Amino acid sequence: MAKLYFRYGAMNSGKSTALLQAAYNYEERGQHVLLAKPTIDTKDADRISSRLGVTREVDFLVDATADIRALFAEHRARVQQQARDALVPDADATRADVACLLIDEAQFLTRDQVDDLLRIVVLDGIPVLAYGIRTDFQTQAFPGSRRLMELAHSLEELKTICRCGRKALFNARLVGGRFVFDGDQVAIDQLTAERVTYESMCAECYLAESGGRLG
Ligand SMILES: [Zn+2]
Repeated sequence: MAKLYFRYGAMNSGKSTALLQAAYNYEERGQHVLLAKPTIDTKDADRISSRLGVTREVDFLVDATADIRALFAEHRARVQQQARDALVPDADATRADVACLLIDEAQFLTRDQVDDLLRIVVLDGIPVLAYGIRTDFQTQAFPGSRRLMELAHSLEELKTICRCGRKALFNARLVGGRFVFDGDQVAIDQLTAERVTYESMCAECYLAESGGRLG
């Protein structure tokens, strides 16, 4: 039975690396995967990039109004057609279809799009692995992550370490190197005069920097 997986963590917890590794594991067995991500992540447009230097182009981008299930169906049909063109008739049937849909930056999906991921899993029978950040810089769940927490068959935390050595839980925002605790949920680098960066932090360090605020 296909399942919806949500693998979440703070920033820099290796989500994109884990996604690309998962894709590789399928392909090593001769299976096909589809890679997608929301368009809101502008830092690398249509690519999934791991901090280890591996990058890969996505099969399709998902904007906020996109019908993700229809997009998936369209690309699935393309994979099936390519398999029909390429394979001899008695070839392994699992190689003639999409084995898995992998989503990067899944926190930026809308609630409705995550609902559609569950439909892809249950009604279309294809496993979906979604990777994303649990909460924003004010410790609030991103809409896509909240819905994935509610719907996923399987939740797996990808861990990273705070500067103090504890497990990081939150993502503190820095603008021009200074911590800020007010602003939009998504800060686009190019629109601000100063560079926006993030630091993954444990709750203790976050509260120390915020003066006790949690969003
Ligand atoms: Zn800490």
